[in-house]
Amino acid sequence: MDCVFCKIVEKEIPSEIIYEDERVIAFEDLNPEAPTHFLVIPKKHISSTWELEKEDSELIGHIIYIGSKIAREKGLEEGYRIVNNCGEQGGQTVDHIHFHILGGRNLQWPPG
Ligand code: 5GP
Ligand code: ZN
Repeated sequence: MDCVFCKIVEKEIPSEIIYEDERVIAFEDLNPEAPTHFLVIPKKHISSTWELEKEDSELIGHIIYIGSKIAREKGLEEGYRIVNNCGEQGGQTVDHIHFHILGGRNLQWPPG
């Protein structure tokens, strides 16, 4: 499948991997929007949150847990944001579900 994040999972293209287990991988975003900006994704290809099945619930919970654990390890005690963009209007540009963890600066709300 021609999916850039599947290629990162398979190590066919390089990335700065922070964490990996049998189900998920976390890596630094190529174009960081904040001092800390990394992504956590499932190894299994799921296109977006739109395609989630009930059986994926535990996997997504694991992703949020790992993102938060890494945020703690990176010292984001002043706060951070976990973001999922879904679909065209949601701003999704890579069609392999991913959660952004952003921190290290004041983040604006509402988002643009
Ligand atoms: P989206 O806009 O789909 O929510 O987020 C996609 C994110 O993936 C963007 O923040 C973009 O910088 C990041 N990204 C796209 N291609 C690559 C890549 O090849 N390597 C890494 N590390 N990040 C990527
Ligand atoms: Zn994929």
